Amino acid sequence: MANLCRYFLTQQDLYIILHAIMKNKMKITLLGTGTSQGVPVIACSCRVCSSENFKDKRLRSSIMIEVNDQRFVIDTGPDFRQQMLRENVEDIDAILFTHHHKDHVAGMDDIRAFNHKWKKDMQLYCTERTKKALHMEFPYVFTQEKYPGTPSVDIHVIDSNSFSINGVDITPIDVLHYKMQVFGFRISNFIYLTDVSKVPDSELEKMKGADLIILDALRRKKHLSHLNLDEAIELISKLRPKRALLTHISHYMGLHEEVNNELPDYIDLAFDQQKILLEY
Ligand SMILES: [Zn+2]
Ligand SMILES: [Zn+2]
Ligand SMILES: [Zn+2]
Repeated sequence: MANLCRYFLTQQDLYIILHAIMKNKMKITLLGTGTSQGVPVIACSCRVCSSENFKDKRLRSSIMIEVNDQRFVIDTGPDFRQQMLRENVEDIDAILFTHHHKDHVAGMDDIRAFNHKWKKDMQLYCTERTKKALHMEFPYVFTQEKYPGTPSVDIHVIDSNSFSINGVDITPIDVLHYKMQVFGFRISNFIYLTDVSKVPDSELEKMKGADLIILDALRRKKHLSHLNLDEAIELISKLRPKRALLTHISHYMGLHEEVNNELPDYIDLAFDQQKILLEY
């Protein structure tokens, strides 16, 4: 028995081992992979919305990136609270916004929990336009005399130039969502690009040589402001990443398993709670 006990690991040992494994790694967590209404859609009884497969249940699109001892979240949609609880997130170092549509910003009020716990402002990164929209959406966050307990944030305005958060270099990818400017983000060999209908040629260059691209693909039928399945596959086959996942998915796309079986080997539909480890 004494011999056996010699091999039991303390929590500190486990922490050291985990830290060694995660060094030079980037962990991506799909917090949500659904379009603006989520899946199932309220009051819809289609076969996707009534599917019992957990991969057909999609919260609003958002991801979490853990790299270099930092934890970033991209977008805070209406399901942000539920996503933070589900993944047991204790702290976030920064939040990046792709654009100001409601399904990407509506949950921002819930960062209060982190403010209260850590007694610090939440660091937000967004364009000037998204900043203005946040001021309109959450005016009480930005007033001179704040009501006690409201969120406290520190906004960093970004443009299409690369920037860095605590040593992690991030390159915005400047694309169009119908006529609206939206940012995707590249961190090392990982790219997240949601809510896009057109990628200008200049930005395509920034997307080459990736290990993983997570890309918008709303449904099969064409759409004004999102890539559909064929357009997403066409773009991915041009860029040829090692692997690609499709996100911001509507119930019109079809059942996860059925659609996934039709896709090329290196492309899959993403699903909520999916986790991927990449070299960094
Ligand atoms: Zn969206
Ligand atoms: Zn449905
Ligand atoms: Zn949008």
